Amino acid sequence: MTPAMSTPTQTIPSYLQADNLGPWGIYLKQVDRVVPYLGHLARWQETLRRPKRALIVDVPIQLDNGTVAHFEGYRVQHNTSRGPGKGGVRFHQDVTLSEVMALSAWMSIKNAAVNVPFGGAKGGIRVDPKTLSLGELERMTRRYTSEIGIIIGPTKDIPAPDVNTNEQIMAWMMDTYSMNEGSTNTGVVTGKPVDLGGSLGRRDATGRGVYTVGVEAANHMGLDISRARVAIQGFGNVGGVAGRLFSEAGARVVAVQDHGGTIYRDAGLDVPALLAHVAAHGSVAGFESAEVLENDQFWDVDCDILIPAALEQQITAANASRIKARLVIEGANGPTTPEADDILADRGILVLPDVIANAGGVTVSYFEWVQDFSSFFWSEDDINARLVRIMKEAFAGIWQVAQDNKVTLRTATFIVACKRILHARELRGLYP
Ligand code: NAD
Repeated sequence: MTPAMSTPTQTIPSYLQADNLGPWGIYLKQVDRVVPYLGHLARWQETLRRPKRALIVDVPIQLDNGTVAHFEGYRVQHNTSRGPGKGGVRFHQDVTLSEVMALSAWMSIKNAAVNVPFGGAKGGIRVDPKTLSLGELERMTRRYTSEIGIIIGPTKDIPAPDVNTNEQIMAWMMDTYSMNEGSTNTGVVTGKPVDLGGSLGRRDATGRGVYTVGVEAANHMGLDISRARVAIQGFGNVGGVAGRLFSEAGARVVAVQDHGGTIYRDAGLDVPALLAHVAAHGSVAGFESAEVLENDQFWDVDCDILIPAALEQQITAANASRIKARLVIEGANGPTTPEADDILADRGILVLPDVIANAGGVTVSYFEWVQDFSSFFWSEDDINARLVRIMKEAFAGIWQVAQDNKVTLRTATFIVACKRILHARELRGLYP
């Protein structure tokens, strides 16, 4: 009999643990940390702790088998002091109002951090879209769009893709809203197909932003990108593009983990070949010329830069002390729990927080919205150059605030963003 292979330890997912705050609780904790730095604007802090508007909608559709199914949908506008609400729509079986509230609040912070003229919003439907046919998915999307149509619009709140939503779903949302309005309104959503008012460069924008601010942070730390070892969790839209750009800059992408498994190559993985493999097979699993690691071993990989670009709450109190990287760049939203954040900070590991690191996507969404309004479309080079400029400027401002106040980059980003939001709140005043 062959000896038993080591098996990954079965741990209870952090989101099921009793002390888990949930996404909205985590957000509120982040706000608490920032209040001492708000000066006279602290007077308006309650604004940050309450969504401006939360809509729960029933989404009934006829299934292909003739029965009627009901899904619960949400659209939350956390804050619109700086401009219309902006944020994605998520189709996932775990979507809750609390999660959508938190994601909408993080959009307020993100949009203010990169200084695009949007507030924060988010939407979602509690559904596993893999259980629906294409026709059912379209009917659900259209009914949801109609239901939230009373609060969205090109100058009110502009949805975009998020987990399990894509360009096609944005096309259906744009069409439904336009049909209801009686005129074509391309600017009601972003992340549309390029042939329908979408923007060049949008697909790569988040990964490009991750790379851009990652290089800025590395430069400040004296970390040479061309010699850096990089580990990436999630090799989809965000992780795949970031991996490509880091490897083009000479970095070695030594480990990649996705839903199918974890692969490792000390000399560096062949990233273009890996991207082609994922495109063909849907996962990094089965990629040749790489070692297979147990999933849990991913956190022990010897690397300089770690990029979580998959799911929430991946870096936890259970694995934060094992991480070898000097720099963590959060491509995903909310990948680090507050406890893990403190452990990383105590260990001197720099964390580039999601609210700045993955803001490239919404920045190019802003460009898409501007292009739709003017019906004049820019070249990809133009878009990339403007994206890089905005990301670098935002990073420089946040870095300075972190140095001046001796706080983490997450708290610094919240300081910059919350001050912008509350300053707008104060200038506008209360109505009536
Ligand atoms: P995607 O669907 O393209 O890729 C997700 C990746 O995560 C895939 O490689 C998948 O295999 C992997 N994954 C799924 N479950 C996993 C698991 N249990 N363990 C390890 N890996 C797992 O999604 P994306 O657009 O790249 O988004 C990734 C993250 O980035 C999400 O948190 C999303 O909210 C965030 N984000 C995306 C954008 C964007 O523009 N796409 C913008 C901002 C933030």
